[in-house]
Amino acid sequence: MSNSIDPQAEPLPSLSARHIDPHSYPDGVAFLDGQYLPMSQAKISVLDWGFLHSDATYDTVHVWNGRFFRLDLHLDRFFGGLEKLRMTIPFGRDGVAEILENCVALSGHRAAYVEMLCTRGASPTFSRDPRDAVNRFMAFAVPFGSVANAEQLQRGLHVAISDKVRIPPASIDPAIKNYHWLDLVRGLYDAYDRGAETALLLDFNGNVAEGPGFNVFCVDDGKLSTPAAGVLPGITRRTVFDLCAEAGLAVAAADVSVAALRRSDEVFITSTAGGIMPVTMIDGIPVADGKVGAITKRLMAIYWQKHEDPVWSSPVRYP
Ligand code: PLP
Repeated sequence: MSNSIDPQAEPLPSLSARHIDPHSYPDGVAFLDGQYLPMSQAKISVLDWGFLHSDATYDTVHVWNGRFFRLDLHLDRFFGGLEKLRMTIPFGRDGVAEILENCVALSGHRAAYVEMLCTRGASPTFSRDPRDAVNRFMAFAVPFGSVANAEQLQRGLHVAISDKVRIPPASIDPAIKNYHWLDLVRGLYDAYDRGAETALLLDFNGNVAEGPGFNVFCVDDGKLSTPAAGVLPGITRRTVFDLCAEAGLAVAAADVSVAALRRSDEVFITSTAGGIMPVTMIDGIPVADGKVGAITKRLMAIYWQKHEDPVWSSPVRYP
């Protein structure tokens, strides 16, 4: 069935200014054009290349129990992306960190999803030359959100392997965190059509890559592996490597075939939006005995404990 025309669609609104309902936005605070604003007022031009061409980079860090988790690593990745895309912003790392903290503090959220982003911007003449655009930095803090809901965290996610291929690294360097999500969103619809809750996409060689907003790990005989190439080097993925080093678990970045994923003892996904999240069903078939595995549970527990540790986290100064 086509989703493009909805026969029940409302008539087009009249040519008067439409009322914006502030409640139709998540409760949060944004920083835009030098001002702190409620989310409902944080707007950009439709001529911004970030919107017209997906010409943007961003990073997302979370705040848990009033503390940023590994903010330095997120700032490193964001500034790395800016440099590769030849974008400049009028703030250094400390300035961005201060803006993010202010967004969180003004929002009052103690569990927050905090995003910093930079678009190519718009050019005053609508020039087609990206060098004419004025880069635009923005940030916002909204309530924490997770890829997996509470029930899915308990029993494990049900995923489907999509036949959509993740955009290859030769086209877009995945280390530049980006909004090129059409493959991921199409993968999600494939998954929903097949009764699954989220999707895993393959890379150009048919190996497992990543999913909409997350990396993936499998555990085989006590050893962990995660796709090495063609994926965003996630900070949560990196955190799993760090936790494994502390816990004495073997972990490697390597090709992960679909067959290897299917016969794994445990599978989990990782994202700033939710942390370490178990997967217990792939294409309708249980992973091992279909229960959340022991190593996954152990890593989930240490991951959240580290959020209180000053080596891994830093407090937000609320007013
Ligand atoms: N892969 C993609 C495509 C993502 O968008 C994300 C996060 O948004 C991740 C992986 C996970 O990265 P991180 O752990 O840094 O949140």
